Amino acid sequence: MNEITVCLTFDLDAESAQVRQKENPVRVSKGQFAIQRGMPRILSLLKKYDIQATFFVCGWVAETYPSTISNILIRENEIAAHGYMHEYLDKLSMGVEKTIHERTNKVLEEMAGKIDGFRAPYWILSNHTLSIITEMGYIYDSSLMNEDRPHTYTIPETNRRIVEFPVEWYLDDWILFEEKQLNPTAVFEIWKSQFDALIEVEDIEEDRCVLTLTCHPCCIGHAYRLNVLEHLIKYMISKKASFSKMNKVAADFFF
Ligand SMILES: [Zn+2]
Repeated sequence: MNEITVCLTFDLDAESAQVRQKENPVRVSKGQFAIQRGMPRILSLLKKYDIQATFFVCGWVAETYPSTISNILIRENEIAAHGYMHEYLDKLSMGVEKTIHERTNKVLEEMAGKIDGFRAPYWILSNHTLSIITEMGYIYDSSLMNEDRPHTYTIPETNRRIVEFPVEWYLDDWILFEEKQLNPTAVFEIWKSQFDALIEVEDIEEDRCVLTLTCHPCCIGHAYRLNVLEHLIKYMISKKASFSKMNKVAADFFF
């Protein structure tokens, strides 16, 4: 059996995209559920199992809900960047995009200290994003789908290297619960099956086995869905998985 590290990650968009796009109050309120109910539930689950996780936070969300950021930091969870108002980065000029990353970085660093990582809103990078964020000192990204475990990635435009934690749609709560409308048992089985496959089937050898799970507080924060995550955490613990923040994995293994 392979040793495995699990990176639990939460994209805290809240209602930033809905406010930016001037959507109706109901759509906005769905994002607000993340702050009102999702985050308290998630933070108490992490505390219960003594797990530290990574939260990708929009700059606007941090400015609007500073006490949520403080609560994330109480148990030294990681804050990483996720755009200012969850922008479509590929629709922006390079100059505007750079301003967005710098603004977000300033807000987050004032609250949380140095920011090490980034995940693209909607998992859409522009052709400039990775160059901009490495210039800003970020050591990792988590937006690509070229692999299923972390690795160093050479950015074609600059030849600079960055640690990449790949993502996938079937490891994303939003797709499974909100778009596919799967029931909790089905979601649990998908996530458990990938975990089992990584620890039991693959011949990992020198590679480190890391599973990255992406959840959204406005989605997984509903009680019956968070039960799925709790069952999964219990199962992973029974299989001796360890849990880690992404910046720790990136620093330990690639730099
Ligand atoms: Zn997002």
